[in-house]
Amino acid sequence: MTIAAPKVGFVSLGCPKALVDSERILTQLKVEGYAVAPNYDDADVVVVNTCGFIDSAVAESLDAIGEAMAENGKVIVTGCLGKRADIIREAHPGVLSISGPQDYVSVMDAVHSALPPAHDPFIDLIPDYGIKLTPKHYAYLKISEGCNHRCTFCIIPSMRGDLVSRPVDEVLREAEKLAAGGVKELLVVSQDTSAYGVDVRYAPRTWHEKIYETRMKSLCEGLSELGIWTRLHYVYPYPHVDDIIPLMADGKILPYLDIPFQHASPKVLKAMKRPGAIDKTLQRVHNWRKVCPDLTIRSTFIVGFPGETEADFQMLLDFIEDAQLDRVGAFTYSPVEGAAANAIEGHVPAEEQASRLARFMALQAEISEAKLAAKVGTRQSCIVDEIDGELAIARSKADAPEIDGLVQIQNGFEAGLKPGDFVDVDIMGSDEHDLYGEVPFDD
Ligand code: SF4
Repeated sequence: MTIAAPKVGFVSLGCPKALVDSERILTQLKVEGYAVAPNYDDADVVVVNTCGFIDSAVAESLDAIGEAMAENGKVIVTGCLGKRADIIREAHPGVLSISGPQDYVSVMDAVHSALPPAHDPFIDLIPDYGIKLTPKHYAYLKISEGCNHRCTFCIIPSMRGDLVSRPVDEVLREAEKLAAGGVKELLVVSQDTSAYGVDVRYAPRTWHEKIYETRMKSLCEGLSELGIWTRLHYVYPYPHVDDIIPLMADGKILPYLDIPFQHASPKVLKAMKRPGAIDKTLQRVHNWRKVCPDLTIRSTFIVGFPGETEADFQMLLDFIEDAQLDRVGAFTYSPVEGAAANAIEGHVPAEEQASRLARFMALQAEISEAKLAAKVGTRQSCIVDEIDGELAIARSKADAPEIDGLVQIQNGFEAGLKPGDFVDVDIMGSDEHDLYGEVPFDD
């Protein structure tokens, strides 16, 4: 007789780091014989993995918990907002349990007490690399937890603690399993990828009989052995980042850096408690481009930080004009409960913030549009994400999933493409975000 597997519903909110936590919990649930329910009605209990980074994320998380309570009634809360259990209990006193980020043990304990596992040896057949929430052909690879910085607008260190790096051999083994399972693109994530290994003094480990240090460059060298795309996210513009640019120029890892610069005025950067030597940063960006002309730089900025004057804002505009960043996201500053920046004098009025954001985005739109237009007439290596009618929706080396642009391949279906395929595309058109092209056929 087959025992019906108890079913757990799962709601995953927040950033890629939270997504990796969700994947780990889902993997553990599968290992223990639980099934994942596709909707609230079928679930015996629901886990909500929350985000608490900014106030809008808190509201979204509380709404998601409320919906799960209304639709199902048995709800286990985990993730970043779990660090602020009081506001969850106040809004939703009936939740079964609350735990913080990466607290897989507490989540599983809560699931066990709400819903004892059914033991069936035939249902724990799961892939070697665990459960993934991303499409089969790309995966996030989390290399560390926590952060040693204390940016004044951020409460992540108080929620996730100081930096704890995963040993490099463990990360490389996970990457290898993902590649063996069909993953073609790895997205390296952390709170600060350039700080990887500082906490363990770059401890050397062995992988495939070769020594690798627990350090960003050594990790990149190991990942390049897998022969798939590796993309780096959340890198600080430190001097040692210079060392990995030659790996990009040699095609070992993608020529792509996601660097959250956040601002360009030394005064505002100091108030944010971030590295303030913006002239050196700009010089570094120019040098990187000399070594690797194809380098794509994506960044995020905060506009209207407390104390930001028109002169500070102008420095920010001058920086993006000079740095010619490829992809940029920007937000107006909004206070986060518990963040040190709340106490800084000179909060910028909301209308002024909105007007500066609009000016910033208008300038960046011109830059991004011109950079994409310069690609018309070139041939770009792309990875296919999906087929949509006649089109294949793909991304070039310059485009990270979810956050950057797309390459629409007009003859993708005709060319027989499928998700996960690598393909060269002749670029024939562009707009502010995306590229349009065709697979070249032999004459
Ligand atoms: S680097 Fe700054 S913004 Fe990023 S997680 Fe650490 S403290 Fe927060």
